[in-house]
Amino acid sequence: KVKEIGRNSYLFFSKDMQIRTSRALKIDSALREALQKQQLYLHYQPQVNIEHQKLIGVEALLRWEHPELGMISPAEFIPQAEANGLIIPIGEWVLKTALNQLRQWIDDGYEPIVMAINLSTAQFRHENLNNMVSQVLHEVQLPPEYLELELTESMAMTDPEKVIGVLDKLHAQGVRIAIDDFGTGYSSLSYLKKFNIDKLKIDQSFVRDIATDAGDRAIVTTIIQMATILGFNTIAEGVETSSQLDFLRENGCHEYQGYKFSKPIPPDTLAEKYLQKNSG
Ligand code: C2E
Ligand code: MG
Ligand code: MG
Ligand code: MG
Repeated sequence: KVKEIGRNSYLFFSKDMQIRTSRALKIDSALREALQKQQLYLHYQPQVNIEHQKLIGVEALLRWEHPELGMISPAEFIPQAEANGLIIPIGEWVLKTALNQLRQWIDDGYEPIVMAINLSTAQFRHENLNNMVSQVLHEVQLPPEYLELELTESMAMTDPEKVIGVLDKLHAQGVRIAIDDFGTGYSSLSYLKKFNIDKLKIDQSFVRDIATDAGDRAIVTTIIQMATILGFNTIAEGVETSSQLDFLRENGCHEYQGYKFSKPIPPDTLAEKYLQKNSG
């Protein structure tokens, strides 16, 4: 298909580009209704101690099932929600829903765990973030240390001077901070030590080929050693096999998350399979 855009210039659309553009438009308008129509929900993926396989926390992961388009991955719709501004109400909904879930589990007599929640770029830059977080924690009556906010390494390294202040404020109210997808975002190491953070999440791209790729092994061991010296915990993402797990354990990684232990699952399944009942 050829579209005339000027007297002599033509823009060529391939079939593939057309399909992609029209899907993006569909998703954009569908996303506007997704929250009201209750098409969004959360799954929770266990985060476990590598030594004892003990559940420490869960990561809340957004799911969207659209009646016609089917399941749409957050990797596809989050960037769009980011671009059209809907990520702010969606992100607030995620925070409230996940913390309410944790509140419910505790009320049901389960031992408390940490709830890890992904922040989007726009949420992280939003001037009201700190207030919004403390208000939601107050509403659900949970101590701040049960909440861990994940921001990606590239978010942390964009305007890092400002990020120092944002992280200090969040930390001052007692919330934990993890740097997600670590190793993919061009860290300036001098900033890393100025950031008030608790945990580095080793990106799954380094974990995937750990058994066969000496370069990935070097990167992973270096991240673990550096984090340990700086006083941060480490968690490996995307652990699928025993050999990956063995390597990580032998090299001092603290926690892991991945299909090897469990996929992200609905809250009832998580409670049934993994939460401990209070003994007292
Ligand atoms: P992420 O935060 O790095 O989350 C990890 C992703 O890896 C999740 O994909 C998870 O399902 C997947 N995963 C976990 N274990 C394994 C494994 O063993 N193997 C493989 N191959 N994958 C594994 P998911 O749920 O599709 O989410 C993709 C990304 O979307 C997330 O990456 C995060 O950046 C974003 N996202 C998801 N939920 C939210 C949310 O509530 N808010 C924001 N802002 N972003 C979110
Ligand atoms: Mg994450
Ligand atoms: Mg990640
Ligand atoms: Mg990711």
